[in-house]
Amino acid sequence: MVVGGGITGLAAAWEAVQHPGVSVTVLESTDRLGGKVRTSALDLPTGALVVDEGADNFLARVPDAVGLCDELGLTAELVEPRVGRAMVAVGGQLHPYPERHVLGVPLDLDDLAHSGILSPAGLAAVAAERDHPRPAPEDDVAIGPYLAERFGQELVDHVVGPLVGGINAGDVAELSLRAVVPQLAEAASAGGVLSEVLRDRLAAAPPAGPVFTAVRGGTERLVTTLAEQLTGRGAGLRTDAAVVALEAPGPGGPDVTRLRLASGEVIDADAVVVATPAPVAASLLRTASPDAADLLAGIDHVPVAFVAVAFDRDHLRLPGGCSGVLVPRDAGLLLTAASFGSAKWAAWDDGRHVVVRAAAGHRHDRRHTDLADDELATALLAELRMVLGVTGPPAATRVTRWDPGFAQYTVGHLDRMDRLDRRLASDAPSVRVVGADLGGLGLPACIREGRRAARRLVEG
Ligand SMILES: Cc1cc2nc3c(=O)[nH]c(=O)nc-3n(C[C@H](O)[C@H](O)[C@H](O)COP(=O)(O)OP(=O)(O)OC[C@H]3O[C@@H](n4cnc5c(N)ncnc54)[C@H](O)[C@@H]3O)c2cc1C
Repeated sequence: MVVGGGITGLAAAWEAVQHPGVSVTVLESTDRLGGKVRTSALDLPTGALVVDEGADNFLARVPDAVGLCDELGLTAELVEPRVGRAMVAVGGQLHPYPERHVLGVPLDLDDLAHSGILSPAGLAAVAAERDHPRPAPEDDVAIGPYLAERFGQELVDHVVGPLVGGINAGDVAELSLRAVVPQLAEAASAGGVLSEVLRDRLAAAPPAGPVFTAVRGGTERLVTTLAEQLTGRGAGLRTDAAVVALEAPGPGGPDVTRLRLASGEVIDADAVVVATPAPVAASLLRTASPDAADLLAGIDHVPVAFVAVAFDRDHLRLPGGCSGVLVPRDAGLLLTAASFGSAKWAAWDDGRHVVVRAAAGHRHDRRHTDLADDELATALLAELRMVLGVTGPPAATRVTRWDPGFAQYTVGHLDRMDRLDRRLASDAPSVRVVGADLGGLGLPACIREGRRAARRLVEG
């Protein structure tokens, strides 16, 4: 049994049906599958344009999502973004993001200087890193202070923070090096000069192929295709089926886990993958494993809003070759980023409009939650005018809110998740908890972890 019909739960079900003799049902509380993966129409005067409300692409260089697309026969439907370079809004101007970097850590000082993001003092602080080899951190550390000590605070505020903090609307002063940027953590574990270690790693294994890929027609096609093929293989997919309680036997107890639904229905299962947001998982496990529930309840979340806006082409000229703009926190804007959807994706480009998705909300800014949809759209439009130089009214807007939004992987997250696994293994061995709030935010990580949880339960 799988609780939660987001991409993690569906991937868990997909893994289960690969095993002969295993039957699986997904129980989803809302009236649709997909969770935070949602694609819908943006209503333009010229007709409807299909635009993602959440994820619009995923990492192509890790196997999990592209591999699943392959299994589902979607490989021919994968498309690459037409543009890939971000801008950063600093000091009232747009600057190109450096080209040679690993998660914002610059590998080329000339490239960084050329971007114009940092002041001369900021550049000097970055340059000084190579003169100060340092020991590897002994434990998990926060990304911001770790990098600020080496490269200066300005790099953290205006280069690393907007990119890495933008991934989960978090604050790099709190986020875990190991959980959020494992590539940097691995390099940091070598000690010495981090920029040199990263440069050597990159030279030894140069990345190949595009960084991101997307499903033509929107990310939700991954969900609908998965759902179709799951049904074809006999899986049960039930929407409007909220699970409200879970009674799991401890070791040596009866062989079933009992699920209670909001409707009053009771379902007994041999094994259960819980793939809901962590606050829900915490409440479901409160009786079966109070320690696991406490660990889950301790994961903080940040609500975010995405506003998709279409402008007439004459009213907005985007900087050429750019995929979007990142807005550092010290700009004080509601806008945290704007993604240039119609520049990135051919399918979002109707030839007459420019489609931008503007994001609001971060760890220290929940102002958007106090604004009604029209107020939020108006506020973000005013900021888009200022940052991008929009000269006319929008042709269409659409507000999407995500709450609980993004989980915050703060320092020590991986250790806490290990403890969670151990608690569950002893309190409720036939239950596994997975999902973006625990083991990786991006779609590939959700798919990997969902499948792994199902495999471990099926294979025992
Ligand atoms: C705005 C936004 C943009 C993003 N962009 C990208 C991107 O470009 N690339 C990328 O790789 N990732 C991106 N992500 C991240 C990615 O989309 C998510 O991390 C991922 O979709 C989460 O999947 P999940 O299944 O773990 O959780 P969810 O999608 O939250 O699914 C959990 C499901 O559990 C259900 N549920 C809750 N309570 C119950 C209950 N009691 N009983 C039964 N079911 C229940 C929910 O309704 C939901 O369907 C983005 C996320 C957001 C919000």
